[in-house]
Order: sequence, then C-alpha cells, then structure tokens
Amino acid sequence: MSKPKRLPFAMLLDRFLVRATVDEVENITTRMRRIRVTGESLRGLDWTPGQHVRVRVDALTLRSYSVWDFADGRHLDLCVLDHPGAGPGARWSRQVRAGQPVSFTRPQGRLLLRDGAPYHLFVGDETAGVAFGAMLRALPVSARTYAAIEVEGPDDRLPLPRTGDIHWAHRTGPAPVVAALRALDLPAESGAAYVAGEARTCQAVRHHLTAERGWPRSAVAVKAFWAPGKRGLD
Ligand SMILES: Cc1cc2nc3c(=O)[nH]c(=O)nc-3n(C[C@H](O)[C@H](O)[C@H](O)COP(=O)(O)OP(=O)(O)OC[C@H]3O[C@@H](n4cnc5c(N)ncnc54)[C@H](O)[C@@H]3O)c2cc1C
Repeated sequence: MSKPKRLPFAMLLDRFLVRATVDEVENITTRMRRIRVTGESLRGLDWTPGQHVRVRVDALTLRSYSVWDFADGRHLDLCVLDHPGAGPGARWSRQVRAGQPVSFTRPQGRLLLRDGAPYHLFVGDETAGVAFGAMLRALPVSARTYAAIEVEGPDDRLPLPRTGDIHWAHRTGPAPVVAALRALDLPAESGAAYVAGEARTCQAVRHHLTAERGWPRSAVAVKAFWAPGKRGLD
C-alpha cells in the first residue's frame, strides 16, 4: 500500500490563512508603514482591539502585527516598523505594494482592555503603539488613561488618540520609558496596565509597577513583541 502523500508545509499553512489583497501602503511615521488590506474574506472576522494577526511575510515565515484598525468586511490596517535589524517582516513591509496578495491568521491574542478598571496605563515602544492605538480608540470618552511610549524621536510618534495623556520618551539615555513611567503622577490605587514592546523593557516596567508601586501582578498585562538578537518573537 502506498503511503498517503504529505502536503508541503507551505500548502498546509495556506489552508489556515485568510487571503486578502493589499490596497494601500503609506508611511504613517518616518519608519513605519501603514498597510491596508481588503477582500471578501475580511467579512465576519472576529477582532478585539489589542489583538494581532500573523502575516505570511515569505513562503515559510509568519510575523505578528497588531491590528491598527478594522472595518468589518471593508479593510484591516497594520503598521509595520522598518527597524535596522531588517528581518523578513521589515523586508516584506519595504517591498509590499497595492494589488499584491497577502495572507494571515485570524486575529488572536490576549492583550485586551480590562473591563471595570479604575484607569488604564499603556507602556511600550513604537511597535506597541499600534495595539495601544486600537485599544485607546475603543475606550469610552469617560475612561481615565495614562501612557508612556518610547520612540527614537518626534518623527516616530504614531497619531494616537488622547494625545494629551501620552508621555513620549525619546531614546536619549538608558531605559527612557521606565524613567518616564517613574515620573508619571499616577493615582495611589492600581489600575490596569498594558505593557508591550522590547522584552527586557517590558520586564523592567513590570518590575517598576509591582515592586516600586506595589501593583498586583495580575493588574499588569505584559506581551513582549521583540528582543535584540532574537527572530520572530511570539
Ligand atoms: C503580538 C505581537 C504584536 C506585534 N505587533 C507589531 C506591530 O504592530 N508592528 C510592528 O512593527 N511589529 C510588531 N510586532 C513585532 C513583529 O512581529 C516582528 O517581531 C518585527 O517586525 C521584527 O520582525 P522581522 O522579521 O523584521 O525581524 P526578526 O527576524 O524577527 O528580527 C531580526 C532582528 O531585528 C532586531 N529587531 C526586531 N524588531 C526590532 C525593533 N522593533 N527595533 C529594533 N530592532 C529590532 C532584533 O535584533 C532581531 O534579532 C509584534 C509582535 C508580537 C509578538
């Protein structure tokens, strides 16, 4: 009896992915491209602000990107940073053009807004700003928010809602976002914190909140997005 044929990994992957078409590519900051995808397959996709998709950036490689905006059945926007490490994800963002096909997983992830929190605190870097933008837009106007976001310089600031509540920390010294967070005048009681971006900075932020400010660990949601020297952290 002949052995059943095994499908190549790339074909198996294809079966699970949502297929769409790139509709627009534009620079949303100096180093970040907003990539809008459209297609019938977007209809009915279930997405909660803070969640990401895993994009097929070459034949066998997936990279995670937070959903910046999703309009059911019409478009889904991603924002991809062109970082100096220039791995397959960054390279894909450089060469992708309107009209090209793109495939990705259904939205997933647990970096989600916490209901009933007395206030919300967002801490991260350029990459984290994408998820934070979607989460901030989803909050009711009455919600209290604080944010500290580390970027290279003013040209790397994403157009986020509630700009008045955002403290931008530029990379001029060591751990600028932790210093910015330390300087934030937060209420005495803990809120809900969302921490994302570079792995060691995420740990330092969690340590600050739990050890220095006395927050319970359960109040701090952490998701490392990347780490120096590591590939495709997920
Ligand atoms: C849940 C989740 C959501 C994410 N959302 C976003 C998003 O919305 N936008 C986005 O741009 N990225 C996001 N990321 C990061 C993204 O998935 C990739 O890790 C990133 O694009 C790097 O992939 P790459 O293939 O270009 O480089 P890789 O091959 O993964 O890495 C190569 C090297 O590049 C360096 N490097 C990687 N990232 C950076 C960086 N940001 N700055 C400086 N150097 C870096 C590191 O030294 C790394 O070893 C997210 C990650 C996760 C886990």
